[in-house]
Amino acid sequence: MNAPAQFDIVIAGGGMVGASLGAALASLPLRVLVVEATPPADAAQPSYDDRATAISESSRRILQGIGCWDALAPAAAPIRSIHVSERGAFGVTRLRAAEHGLASFGCVVENRALGEVLWQRLQAEPGVTTWVPAKVTAVTQDQDGITVRVDRGEGGEAVVAARLLVAADGARSPTRALAGIAAATRDYGQVAVIANLTPAVDHDGTAFERFTPSGPLAVLPLTRGRTTIVWTLAPDRAAAVMALDDAAFLAEFQVAFGYRLGLFRKVGRRASYPLALVQAVDWHLGRVALAGNAAHGIHPVAGQGFNLGLRDAAALAELVARRPGDPGHPALLEEYAEWREADRARTVRDTDSLVQVFTSELPTLRAGRRLGLVGMDLLPPARALVARRGMGLAGRLPRLALGQGLGP
Ligand SMILES: Cc1cc2nc3c(=O)[nH]c(=O)nc-3n(C[C@H](O)[C@H](O)[C@H](O)COP(=O)(O)OP(=O)(O)OC[C@H]3O[C@@H](n4cnc5c(N)ncnc54)[C@H](O)[C@@H]3O)c2cc1C
Repeated sequence: MNAPAQFDIVIAGGGMVGASLGAALASLPLRVLVVEATPPADAAQPSYDDRATAISESSRRILQGIGCWDALAPAAAPIRSIHVSERGAFGVTRLRAAEHGLASFGCVVENRALGEVLWQRLQAEPGVTTWVPAKVTAVTQDQDGITVRVDRGEGGEAVVAARLLVAADGARSPTRALAGIAAATRDYGQVAVIANLTPAVDHDGTAFERFTPSGPLAVLPLTRGRTTIVWTLAPDRAAAVMALDDAAFLAEFQVAFGYRLGLFRKVGRRASYPLALVQAVDWHLGRVALAGNAAHGIHPVAGQGFNLGLRDAAALAELVARRPGDPGHPALLEEYAEWREADRARTVRDTDSLVQVFTSELPTLRAGRRLGLVGMDLLPPARALVARRGMGLAGRLPRLALGQGLGP
């Protein structure tokens, strides 16, 4: 076996969060290695797949700060208003970006576009090495450093010595398990069906969030007059709609959503995702830290999973920039854990309660949510609070999310 390859930081997983972290760290004088199992343009890539992602204003700023926004902007559809309703009920609320002095609340970008831009950025950076396809297979550590074994497929097995290993390899995170960090999982008993649909009526930058007895349903604006849907259903119903032909699928969806965008005419490839809340018990153990879905897989109802993960990446990069010398120092990772736990707890609480309140059939909760929607429509401060949280602008923010550089 050859002598270990030397890096400062190894990132396991080059999905949306791991690649963003790599791009954020690229501006620092560090040797960074990104180990990714599936090539970004591969049809089987689990992060850069057929989904689209709602990106908050704070995430847009972070993407700008890591040099990716200009290339992404042409592929981004702005969300200028949000329309929240409940099927079969009178309560409706509308949030308008202009009311808050903003051009948009955020925007929607297809995951494949994100993958293309993030990976182009990574591969243009001299300080970042990418190994793909490759997988982390073993992790050992002591006080001073970490040793990572990597299976590089036909390239054989490599051994890497580093100061910090970041597990950013998704909610099932094999690296988290190799490092000995446990995670708690709660199944929602729901499946999200996604597809791109073209409606007859222009969406005009409106995102629709509709609560139905089977679960929430979102219709988000995309470029070129298209929309992307996230339709949450019970598992057997999801399997049934996935099996329909395109015309029958469109007809079923039309019944669930209604006619606010006229008739849906065209549907792209569909995919389904079983939904669970996954929360790692610790944010780090020794020199292994978690980021993105490896730390928290949440329900997509409010479109916050990637936004939360991107704030993990921006926060970790900022702390590393502040402590030159040892990016895996225990004090640094403790601060990271404390900072990110506050954001995770708030985001999980908001998302989880939205799912519970809007899928419950208890009469008191049904009445409460109608009042809630009407009340929110009438009360500007309530709308402002919801909008601010949705834009990712609440709590302690990383410098990149404030439009600043990583700092000293
Ligand atoms: C239906 C749906 C809609 C969503 N919509 C939104 C939204 O609108 N807004 C939002 O903010 N969030 C949204 N999310 C959440 C968002 O998709 C996730 O939070 C995001 O993908 C997390 O990125 P990640 O990089 O942490 O993990 P992943 O996207 O899971 O990426 C993990 C990466 O690690 C790689 N990997 C896995 N194992 C290994 C290994 N052993 N070695 C090396 N690499 C490995 C994988 O190939 C992958 O590239 C949605 C989620 C779902 C299911």
